[in-house]
Amino acid sequence: MTATTTQTAEPSPAEGGDTSPDEPGAWQTFRRNGVGMTGAIMLVVAIIIALFAPLLAPYDPYESVRVAIDDIYQAPSAAHLLGTDDGGKDVLSALLYGTRVSLIVGFAAAAISLLIGGFIGLVAGYYGHALETVLMRITDFFLVIPALVLQIVIVAIVGQSLRNIIIVIGVLGWTTTARLVRSQTLTVKQRRFVMRARALGAGDAHIIRRHVFPLVLPLMLANTVLVISLAILSESTLAFIGLGDPTVISWGQMLNFAFTRGAVTAGAWWALFGPGLALLWVVLSATLFGTALEDVFNPRLQRHHLEPELPQARRARARAHNHADEPVSDALLSVRNLSVEFETALGAARAVDDVSFDLRRGESLGLVGESGSGKTTSVLALLRLLPPGGSVAAGQVTFDELDVLTLPASDLRALRWQRLAIVFQGAMNALNPVRTVESQIAEAVRLHDDGVSRKAAAERAGDLLASVGITRSRAAEYAHTYSGGMRQRAMIALALACDPDIVVADEPTTALDVMVQAQILELLASLARERGMGMIMVTHDLGVVAATCDRVAVMYGGTIAEEGPTAEVFASPQHPYTRLLLEAFPDIDHPDRALSSIPGAPPRLTNQPSGCRFHPRCPDAMDRCTTERPPPYELDDGRLAACFLHDPATVGSGGGSGDG
Ligand code: SF4
Repeated sequence: MTATTTQTAEPSPAEGGDTSPDEPGAWQTFRRNGVGMTGAIMLVVAIIIALFAPLLAPYDPYESVRVAIDDIYQAPSAAHLLGTDDGGKDVLSALLYGTRVSLIVGFAAAAISLLIGGFIGLVAGYYGHALETVLMRITDFFLVIPALVLQIVIVAIVGQSLRNIIIVIGVLGWTTTARLVRSQTLTVKQRRFVMRARALGAGDAHIIRRHVFPLVLPLMLANTVLVISLAILSESTLAFIGLGDPTVISWGQMLNFAFTRGAVTAGAWWALFGPGLALLWVVLSATLFGTALEDVFNPRLQRHHLEPELPQARRARARAHNHADEPVSDALLSVRNLSVEFETALGAARAVDDVSFDLRRGESLGLVGESGSGKTTSVLALLRLLPPGGSVAAGQVTFDELDVLTLPASDLRALRWQRLAIVFQGAMNALNPVRTVESQIAEAVRLHDDGVSRKAAAERAGDLLASVGITRSRAAEYAHTYSGGMRQRAMIALALACDPDIVVADEPTTALDVMVQAQILELLASLARERGMGMIMVTHDLGVVAATCDRVAVMYGGTIAEEGPTAEVFASPQHPYTRLLLEAFPDIDHPDRALSSIPGAPPRLTNQPSGCRFHPRCPDAMDRCTTERPPPYELDDGRLAACFLHDPATVGSGGGSGDG
């Protein structure tokens, strides 16, 4: 199955795709993680000690005192629970104050790393291409340089102040964050809700801020906790080798003094034990906490919004052999000779080839065909939402006299959603899981009307949800608390947010049960009728087309095989593929009719047959079918069929019946 034709189904409720309201949230999941909770509690203890060190410490380690020889390296006693150091000062007090320095360095340096790495990772992952290559090469460069060596050199040059140490550790510690954020951004940006936001007309900054960043943030924070422990270790290492800030007390410095000032020879184990244990405590707590956070956030992201996927289109009102260049006068949307290619390892592969169709105001058109027929790709192409690697190779898309394929980005944003909206398949993946459904609909309203207040937009969102049968009390909930049917209804409400002229529904009922499917289709059809909207229904289900579409275009191998009024095409198919497709579909009026399957398999994107693309599977194939591409022949009743059986020369010579 190719990238252009994958029909990714939303997991069924039975498969766990229909998440119940009882599903544990992040906090509940984390709370059950004993290791993570232990790390969190240990870290909180360290933070409390740092905050209240002056209250907890029995002595002030910064205070100058007169030292007698007996005060040096005193063993632990009631007066000094952890003994004294080489200066006769209380080790416990120094330890408590040292917590402050270690945590300040850890948090501040991690924040710097988070800012730098997060920014670079987001930009590289979101924009891709040459920018990503350059930024990732820079990241790799910093990654291979031994950070500690560089820290030592720079601190020795710029000076040993605490501020310098924080900056150096932070600036040299962003690489892992950048790589993590970039890979997460790459995944998130291909999710349907990002595609939906783009279709909504949102700009890059808005998409990054509202849709990508919130999903990358949890992992960034989890990683930052790990970076904190590394920063604390780095500071302690610098201090241990004598490059710490001499004006503050830190654990590394305490260890340095203990080793260099005779604690070992004096047997003063307490001078080493305290700072060593403290370091172990904080580093271990941050590591346990950070690892548990990653465990919590990673699976959640994977379950709820991974899955790129894709697309379709149709119709031709042209003459045999020359169906281009003649837009139909009453068509609101006109697609002419559209061709779409994808870059593959074997070169450019044409997923849609010379497709033309029109849609009039208030008309509903079904694009139907097997997986890989180019339905979704055609629709995404006309909306300019092709996934990376896909591009329009030829053709023209005209919407209300606007040339869609050459529209500037700002005009395109205004056009999408406000006039051309899309209901993506797999509503769970098309709705942002960290924002309420109401806020996502309100976002669509406000993106296209600056004058609408937040309150008014929220009210409109509530009205729209009510119009699709979702009560206002559920509006402020997250998508994962909705059933599959409700999510799809919410997607329809979202598509209607700006009263579009045309709604493109891409497999809107995939993975829903039969009853819910019927409800959704009836809802879509009635809303389209009430609002006078045009609709393009992309589906592999002929029953869906029969129930909702005025006209149908049957696609095969990236081309349109047949097009015409739904009732007529279904009653009397004029293309062998349409006929076989219908024979493979149950007929409620003829329940006894035996079903048959179409022999063979749809062509691979990278290996399309020459001539008629259906010829390897066609029972009526002729010699010319293997070498010549059949044009769409206009039939007497205004229908189109791309098959040589309708070539006047073939018909005249009795070369085929052409009768379904
Ligand atoms: Fe079959 Fe030939 Fe018609 Fe293609 S053109 S559908 S191979 S008869």
